[in-house]
Amino acid sequence: MNFKKDFYFCYECKKSVDNLEDLLFVEAGSTRSYCSEKCIEKYFSPITNFYEEIEKKLRKKYAVEEEDCLEFLSDVTIMEKSMTAPDEIWCHENGIKEETFCFIKKVAIKEERPFYVIILCTIFDTYPGYVLLSTITESKFLMEEFRIGTEIDVEEHFSEGESAEGLDISNDEIVGIEQKKSEILANHISIHSPADIPVENYELYNDYIESTMDSPDEIFKNKDKAGDTIYTYIKAFDKEGISFYYFVLCMRIDSASEEGQELIIPILNFPTVDGELYKSYHQGEQVSGALKN
Ligand SMILES: [Zn+2]
Repeated sequence: MNFKKDFYFCYECKKSVDNLEDLLFVEAGSTRSYCSEKCIEKYFSPITNFYEEIEKKLRKKYAVEEEDCLEFLSDVTIMEKSMTAPDEIWCHENGIKEETFCFIKKVAIKEERPFYVIILCTIFDTYPGYVLLSTITESKFLMEEFRIGTEIDVEEHFSEGESAEGLDISNDEIVGIEQKKSEILANHISIHSPADIPVENYELYNDYIESTMDSPDEIFKNKDKAGDTIYTYIKAFDKEGISFYYFVLCMRIDSASEEGQELIIPILNFPTVDGELYKSYHQGEQVSGALKN
């Protein structure tokens, strides 16, 4: 044993951790790290209790101490969606530059009154790292209490620097892309089987977009009725023993603004376990080599 090495200590129990790889982090840009899940819980539990007390007081203030919609807190799909595809993200930075984030999503289930899912959290890799408080309310007033600090552009936040920055797309082209997206989605839904992965769960598979586009098994090129070129990227995956195909459909835009500039814009991406659906997209002119978006 000597002093000339890297030492790491759990932020909670102070136990020494031999390898950097064994440390657990729940927030980006912070050195706070832990030896175990148990220590993470132990560290944050007084903090979450503190936030729960604030929520209690605010619920009293707005007379929403009991709400039926709170039962959706145990709905994994709704909670996951709120973390991966929120409507709003807010960030509050305190005087010592510690950041607290809040994800907010408005959810409407059939004829029931819409409600807001609110997740107060730290962030790790753009997604919530540690959830400090999660709650659900129909009250707009209570929801507004969670619009903390400054609002963050959601799209920019999730694009992780690989955004449309520097791309020249005109407004007309954006309208065209949106229209194409809805046409393709409508057609997709009409051929989607109820036995396949539900459309509302597609967002849970968004992590597969990048790898499908970077190293697809196959790419097909098709011209649609409107004369637009659609590229179909296909890649097979295996998740927890279930094999599925991931598809990313992209539209090619030959931008008029810059010579020879050609953009590949994703317009529909989905996983499938349905052989029939696979067949209906597995066609066209096969293209070799990966295209970059
Ligand atoms: Zn520990």
